[in-house]
Amino acid sequence: MKKILVTGGAGFVGAHLCKRLLQDKNNYVICVDNLYTGRLSNLESIINNPRFEFVNHNIIQPLDIPVEEIYNLACPASPPHYQKYPTYTTKTCVIGIINMLELATKYHAKIMQFSTSEVYGDPFVHPQVESYRGNVNPIGIRSCYDEGKRVAETLCFDYNREFGTRIKVIRIFNTYGPLMDPNDGRVVSNLILQALKDEDITLYGDGTQTRSFCYVDDLIEGIVRMMSSRDDFLGPINLGNPSEFTIKSLAEIILEMTNSKSILTYCPLPSDDPLQRKPDISLAKKELDGWEPRIPLREGLKPTIEYFSKI
Ligand code: UDP
Repeated sequence: MKKILVTGGAGFVGAHLCKRLLQDKNNYVICVDNLYTGRLSNLESIINNPRFEFVNHNIIQPLDIPVEEIYNLACPASPPHYQKYPTYTTKTCVIGIINMLELATKYHAKIMQFSTSEVYGDPFVHPQVESYRGNVNPIGIRSCYDEGKRVAETLCFDYNREFGTRIKVIRIFNTYGPLMDPNDGRVVSNLILQALKDEDITLYGDGTQTRSFCYVDDLIEGIVRMMSSRDDFLGPINLGNPSEFTIKSLAEIILEMTNSKSILTYCPLPSDDPLQRKPDISLAKKELDGWEPRIPLREGLKPTIEYFSKI
C-alpha cells in the first residue's frame, strides 16, 4: 500500500485530490488539515474509507509520519482568507514547506508543492510562461501569500540542490467547482451565490480585469500526471485553463445560466489586484502526455451552480 500525505486535504482542491487518490486501491491517504479554511464536510464521502485517515494538525508544527508521497496544499488560498491573518499565511507557506521538505527528505518521499499563478503578480508578460519571473509587490496586501509561495518554491529547489530531495512544483491558476467554500469571497462563489439569491452582483473595479477559470476535475488530472512524471522533471509547471474571460463576462454568463434578476454593481478594486491572468500551458502539454483542460467554462459552471443551489 502506498502511503500518501495530503496537507490541506479538507480544502476545496485537497478534498477532490484525496477522493481521486483513493480511487486507486493501492493508495492509503492521510489528510492533514487544521480546518482553518478546510471543512470536514468536504470529506463526508471518504471519511469512513479504511484507506483514509484524517489528522487535525497545523503544518507550522513539525510532523513525522513515514510516507512515500506528499502533496503540500495547506494554506489559506482566497484573498479575503489569506489577508485576514497575513503573518499566519506567510508562516504556513514558509515554515509549513520547511517541515514538509524535512519529512520528504527523511523518508525519501516525493513532494509536490502547490504554488500559484500569484507568483507572477500583476504580470507584464501575457500569457504567463513559467520562465517569467513576475511583477510582485513585496509589501502589499497580497504579498503575504505571493511572497510566501515564492519562498516556498525557493526552498523546494534548494532542498533539491542541497539534499537531493525529490520535488515537483506546480503553479495553479484560478480553479472552480463543487466543494468551493461559499464564504471564500472568491469571484466564482460570490457571483453564483448572489445570482441565485437575486442579489446585487459585486464587480470589483470596472470588471475588465481577466482571469482564466479551470474546472477542478481538469486540474486534478494534471496534478496526478505531474506526480508520476519522470523523476528529473521538477517544474515549475503551470496548471490552468487558458480560456480567458473578463470578470464582467463571467458575471453575464452566470446571470444567464441562473436566470437571475440580479443587477451588476461596481465596487472599489482591491489594491494589487492583477489586471490580467492566463496560463501558457505548452510545458504541461509537452511533459504531461498532452494534458489540457477539457471542460469549458459553461459546462463546468453547471455542476458548480447546482452545488451552490443546494447549500
Ligand atoms: N472579484 C469581483 N467580485 C467579487 C470577488 C472577486 O469582481 O465578488 C474580482 C477580483 O477583484 C479579481 C477577480 O474577481 O479581479 C478574481 O478574484 P478571486 O478572489 O476569485 O481570485 P484572485 O484571482 O484575485 O486570487
